Amino acid sequence: MFYSNTPLDRADHLRSDGATLKTLFESERALLLPVWRGKLLVGDKNNVAGNSGPAMITIPVTQCPASADADLFLGLLDTTPVFARSLSSLEEPQLTSWLSLAQTTEPEFNAVRFDDLRVIGPALNANDGALMAYARGLLFWHDSCRFCSRCGHALHSINGGHAKTCDNSACNYQSFPRTDPAVIMLVTHDATNNAPAQCLLGRNAAWPKGVFSTLAGFVETGESLEQGVQREVFEEANIRTENVRYIASQPWPFPRSIMLGFEATATSTEITIDPKELDDARWFTAEELKTFGTWGDEQYEFQLPRTDSIARFLIDRWIKEHELTAS
Ligand SMILES: [Zn+2]
Repeated sequence: MFYSNTPLDRADHLRSDGATLKTLFESERALLLPVWRGKLLVGDKNNVAGNSGPAMITIPVTQCPASADADLFLGLLDTTPVFARSLSSLEEPQLTSWLSLAQTTEPEFNAVRFDDLRVIGPALNANDGALMAYARGLLFWHDSCRFCSRCGHALHSINGGHAKTCDNSACNYQSFPRTDPAVIMLVTHDATNNAPAQCLLGRNAAWPKGVFSTLAGFVETGESLEQGVQREVFEEANIRTENVRYIASQPWPFPRSIMLGFEATATSTEITIDPKELDDARWFTAEELKTFGTWGDEQYEFQLPRTDSIARFLIDRWIKEHELTAS
């Protein structure tokens, strides 16, 4: 699954070993992923196919601007220690002048820049995408969780950046990175004598024209994942479901979710959308889906979600299963 295929060893046992972390950080081999306000350092590079596309840039620690925030230990790539650093406090002019310098030290990359993983994700190789997603997610938490939720005092980073503790010695409350569970589901309607199998896709008004995707929503307090699936599908499209089956999951650090992917079988077919949630929702057959383009390719009237998403994985999987069943 995209955004989870990293060969990185998270090396949890080293996080609480401050002396070893310091040695790793100061070693010449240490690599740093700088992150600026949620964007990651990339440059255009020729890929295996000979096309030029964005690729992750890691830099030696000594080449990175200083930061008032603690560096985060991401883990070991083979034996290379990898850290992430927030440059979010830099204003754009400072950042631009550093990027000009970085361009001269990274001659194999063109157009060195900070870019949005949500935009460039599908063009990255899976290892880069997974490491960048991890760094982005952890730094989002660091940048946004600065004060103790119990007493309001400032927090400081511990365990290589994988926890924070309150500066108030009378409190000492520890905070940990948050991941919000969201369910995402492909609702299907089995074939009948008169009609082929169909799946339910909807679209959000904010998406490009023609994009349809699986329904999704956040899990609420006090409900199971399966209940979340059934509630969201009913709320958004007025469709009742049964036989909710877990399929796969995907980290989705935009900003801090994990997508839990399901299939569910519809027991009703009459769609009534909630206009606050959806712009449209329809039933599609596998044959129809095979004629769709991909998100952003406007020469197609209908488009499927981005190739790096679990939504696309669930849809492609269903099309393939349908082909196998049909053959
Ligand atoms: Zn506190």
